[in-house]
Amino acid sequence: MSVRKIVTYPADILEQVCKTVMVFDKKLGKLLDDMYDTMIEYDGVGLAAPQIGIDKQIAIVDIDDSTTYELINPVILETSGTQTGPEGCLSFPGLFGEVTRPYKIKVKAQNRKGKWFEMEAEDFLARAIQHEVDHLHGVLFTTKVSRYLEEEELEGSSKE
Ligand SMILES: [Zn+2]
Repeated sequence: MSVRKIVTYPADILEQVCKTVMVFDKKLGKLLDDMYDTMIEYDGVGLAAPQIGIDKQIAIVDIDDSTTYELINPVILETSGTQTGPEGCLSFPGLFGEVTRPYKIKVKAQNRKGKWFEMEAEDFLARAIQHEVDHLHGVLFTTKVSRYLEEEELEGSSKE
């Protein structure tokens, strides 16, 4: 396993729609393991493949160091409610802003073996997943920021 280099804005790969993953092999497993190492190294709560220069629909989320969700070809099926809170991104070092998103989501995705599963998430986990799914469609959180936050407002904010 190894830590990959983070692609920071501006970069074309961060603003394009990623390709569907068709092959679920050992190489994909290695990539997911590297994404995990990279997310931990940079102290993030999520990471999308384009953030390490790979234009494929692969994202991982781990908001509390207990459960790592691996989402391949994820689709958000349902959303409800709203939440507004601070967001950051490993591709925008030092930049934080308030983003409003649905509070609760239902997602389907494939795991590293290609098996489809569904999961529900709410609150911060739902926020992190939506941030990563946006990455896979070339959508950056800066397009959704209602207000940028100053450093003193940032206590405890997470990077995705
Ligand atoms: Zn991000």
